[in-house]
Amino acid sequence: VHRSRTLLVTGGAGFIGANFVLQAVADGLTVVNLDKLTYAGNLDTLASLQGNPRHAFVQGDIGDRSLIARLLAEHKPDAIVNFAAESHVDRSIDGPAAFVETNVVGTLGLLECARDFWRSLEGAAREGFRFLHVSTDEVYGSLGDEGKFTEQTAYAPNSPYSASKAASDHLVRAFHHTYGLPVLTTNCSNNYGPYQFPEKLIPLVIQKALAGEPLPIYGDGLNIRDWLFVSDHCSAIRRVLEAGRIGETYNVGGNAERTNLTVVKTICTLLDQRRPLADGRARESLMTHVKDRPGHDRRYAIDASKLESELSWKPSQTFESGIAATVNWYLEHQPWVQRVLDGSYRMERLGS
Ligand code: NAD
Repeated sequence: VHRSRTLLVTGGAGFIGANFVLQAVADGLTVVNLDKLTYAGNLDTLASLQGNPRHAFVQGDIGDRSLIARLLAEHKPDAIVNFAAESHVDRSIDGPAAFVETNVVGTLGLLECARDFWRSLEGAAREGFRFLHVSTDEVYGSLGDEGKFTEQTAYAPNSPYSASKAASDHLVRAFHHTYGLPVLTTNCSNNYGPYQFPEKLIPLVIQKALAGEPLPIYGDGLNIRDWLFVSDHCSAIRRVLEAGRIGETYNVGGNAERTNLTVVKTICTLLDQRRPLADGRARESLMTHVKDRPGHDRRYAIDASKLESELSWKPSQTFESGIAATVNWYLEHQPWVQRVLDGSYRMERLGS
């Protein structure tokens, strides 16, 4: 078992990265957190780590080779965990170039720095070093009514986002085969939970439903996603980092396929119970069908049995418990959301 003590985490001011960093620091690890602070990076999420000697925040780009080389030489991490990415499918349809720049070109820069740093190590440090790349199930394309994505499923990315993530996965794989870099890749299904940027389905619907506004549903609402609570994704990454076999990929998912309609209706029911609308209307009446996303994948489903049987990982939340916890979190953290919505979250910059 590989015991990391110091991690270089990239994208650790984003949704999943920040959840991962908070969990890792709480568990006693030291984290150097590199994030460019695009619109998706939010230092408010990391406020509880201010002044913590086991967390250092650095604003910067994964493609900045001199910065990365300096951070690696200075902090000598046991592993790099790469979350940094442009992550929103709709934005990739409007502007794919930024996705190639960060997800492909940026990841290449990070890999080259990781390779050179790893080559400079000796003995146990070299033996123990890992590069873990966090990726998505969207690289596998879309499923029909049957079947699930396994690690053997052929890549067939359909959006500029998933195509850029697929390209980065291939580069990570190639750096193992070509240079021997000790890499691990995880391909996870859709995440939800605390600190998710309110442009994504679940936090967007929670905010709109709270305000009594129309709830946009793409197309017929029958697209299926396999939902995983974010802390379960983080525990999977930690498990793969500790015990994953070098060069392997691991699918991560919660066995929780739901249609978008079911997700939205579940949120409506929870909010009707916790914060009924003043006029007594059921929130389901706010659902409005809007024009479908172009090229919208119909169904994703993950077979996570490799991770479960090889590394004994299990999610701790069902969809029902996770979505209830998420709705409660958003109700209790409205100031965090308001600072995102009014833009003030971008004004503050945390010292390292
Ligand atoms: P996010 O958009 O919330 O966060 C991304 C973070 O990366 C932000 O803090 C941003 O500032 C930072 N970043 C962007 N470009 C950068 C660059 N060039 N250099 C350094 N930092 C940069 O995304 P997320 O939802 O937390 O996803 C994190 C990772 O997990 C991504 O790689 C994504 O592809 C993958 N993933 C996400 C999901 C999901 O459901 N959200 C599922 C599976 C995999």
